[in-house]
Amino acid sequence: MKKITLILSILVLLITGCQKNKNEFSIEGIIEDDQNKIIGIHYPKTGIKKLDQQIEKHISHIKQSFDQQIGEEISLQKKELNIDYEYWITGKRYHNIVLTTFLMTSQTPIHEVKTFVFDELENHFLKLHDIASFKKSNLKQDLISSYKDSIIINQLEKALETDTKFTFKENQITLYFNPYEITTIPTEITKYTFPYHQFKIAIETEETTKNTFHYQPINKKLSTEKPTIALTFDDGPSKYTKEIVDLLKEYNANATFFILGNKVENYQETLKHTLQNGNELGNHSYNHKQLTRLNEEELKKQIESTNKIVKQTLNYDIQLLRPTYGAINNKLKQKINMDIVLWNVDTKDWKLKNSEKIAKKALADIEDGKTVLMHDIYKTTLNALKIILPELKKQGYQIVTVSELREIEKLRNEEKTN
Ligand code: ZN
Repeated sequence: MKKITLILSILVLLITGCQKNKNEFSIEGIIEDDQNKIIGIHYPKTGIKKLDQQIEKHISHIKQSFDQQIGEEISLQKKELNIDYEYWITGKRYHNIVLTTFLMTSQTPIHEVKTFVFDELENHFLKLHDIASFKKSNLKQDLISSYKDSIIINQLEKALETDTKFTFKENQITLYFNPYEITTIPTEITKYTFPYHQFKIAIETEETTKNTFHYQPINKKLSTEKPTIALTFDDGPSKYTKEIVDLLKEYNANATFFILGNKVENYQETLKHTLQNGNELGNHSYNHKQLTRLNEEELKKQIESTNKIVKQTLNYDIQLLRPTYGAINNKLKQKINMDIVLWNVDTKDWKLKNSEKIAKKALADIEDGKTVLMHDIYKTTLNALKIILPELKKQGYQIVTVSELREIEKLRNEEKTN
């Protein structure tokens, strides 16, 4: 018996010891809305130091040169920087990251792509020739026939020579090229995927787990008499969302979380927990681009891909939309068949980043019937709630979701007419 306990404790020590080398995984978000510029950046923090350093270096380089380029200059239309990510692990150890930059500093948007492939076990970055050996001439021919009209042949060779941007899955490789790198297609990133099986590295196959979550709405008793507010959180989910949900629960409160589609897959458990505790989810676009600037196709993609991934992973139908940067135009209203929700109390938490100041601003502006805007991606917002919630409770407030506030308003109107 003693022996088993000893072995077990050694095992526990080993496991916890190993975990210390790897920090917690999160999706980091930088959202800024200034006088002359708007920024929406998302990227994974894998917890692997060497990899995260390179990702952060790339992001801060782009952000710095954007900030420098814009300076204090004020123009009719705000300049926009958006960086989105894709992230997956192939064969349980190879981390694949794609960072796509969208820059709007003049009339024409600029797109740029960057990839990272990192072997967690060996703790190093991989190049294309580390994982696959195929005839470059064959690949070149395939690319020429795929992009017949727009291919730039004399640049193609160079692009396939060194530092080819790529990612891979169990059965395929994808190559990425910037605009004008190998084709004359001006704004688009060229993404070329081909089947591949003969990898030079060992790839352990993963078993896929089935989605078994079934969303069940919770019946709640709503009061028409108590002063009531709807609490809303934008830009999440994040590593702070679960704690916010638990804190709300402590005060018998609920909120609507306007989420980004690009975070859903990596925060499935957080979102299940959010729904299971009586909260509501709304759509806040896929990757926080300003919606009023997009053409119809791009606009629909931003909205529909978020609704779709939420339906697929959580079996939940999103009804509400909060437009990014609060920007609305006729195209958005006409083409998107969803309820648009704005706010009338702005806590400015994204700018203040100080829990006392956020709480003070919120409590000064909150009144019966108001909709409060906050962001669940800041620790200071979480800490501000620790001041706001007990105070509102003391004042007898009922804290509900947007849909519940609408329901209460309806009931109050009915009571008035009866
Ligand atoms: Zn936002």
